[in-house]
Amino acid sequence: MRLILLGPPGAGKGTQAQRLVQKHGIVQLSTGDMLRAAVAAGTPVGLRAKSIMEAGQLVPDEVVVAIIADRIDQEDCKRGFVLDGFPRTVPQAQALDRLLAERGLKLDGVIELKVDEGILLKRIETRVKEMTARGEKLRADDNPEVLKGRLAAYRAQTAPLTQHYAGLDQLKTVDGMAPIDAVTAAIDRLLSAAAKAKPARRKPKSAKKPTKKRAKKPARRSSRQSRSKTRKSVHKPARPARAKNRAGKRKAGRRRRLTKAR
Ligand code: AMP
Repeated sequence: MRLILLGPPGAGKGTQAQRLVQKHGIVQLSTGDMLRAAVAAGTPVGLRAKSIMEAGQLVPDEVVVAIIADRIDQEDCKRGFVLDGFPRTVPQAQALDRLLAERGLKLDGVIELKVDEGILLKRIETRVKEMTARGEKLRADDNPEVLKGRLAAYRAQTAPLTQHYAGLDQLKTVDGMAPIDAVTAAIDRLLSAAAKAKPARRKPKSAKKPTKKRAKKPARRSSRQSRSKTRKSVHKPARPARAKNRAGKRKAGRRRRLTKAR
């Protein structure tokens, strides 16, 4: 199974992706996690991405496309994957379409978690306050100011993806404001409905040739029978029974008269 989760930051993509991983035995591919790992490891990609991420902007397309192209070829992706945070721009989506087509792979669906941005912002502000109060470490981009920028980037660059996937008839939308379990249930329902709607796989042709049922031959008639039948049906319309009887009586009368005369 290969899926994409779409939705703005804070919509719950990560949580739902985890549940899909548990349920379907697929892997979660989060470009955000991969980039953070690269930043932490100080790789060339990480060094390039660090300041962009901290500003809440998008890392260049070619960087994330190269990361994904490399990742989906790995063994653990064979059973399928759920993309979380990728693609985020139309060129990324087009690159993904190409990557999949080159590998003969198809998407099973694109699930958009629809949320109210105003409520989302409030949620994140509360979460940041709670985490700070507990003394927990925050992500560099997890503050309301950066989040506003990330939401703006989502609106401008990522939201148009819904049209891209709707045009390909792959987009499914769920209410991301519903409780977490309800969102999971809605995604489950969408996926089972999509699986049922899929045309059944064709059975491979067996080596044995199917025996053709012969059309039943009509019983053979004698040549006279068939001739008379042909004559009757083609040249002479069948005479109605009453007319036949009259003709019979006329014949008999004539015979009687002839006998009397003799
Ligand atoms: P996320 O954890 O998905 O919210 O991503 C955190 C940050 O990583 C984003 O704000 C971007 O700076 C960067 N990032 C993650 N995925 C992508 C992507 N597909 N394209 C561009 N930048 C990305």
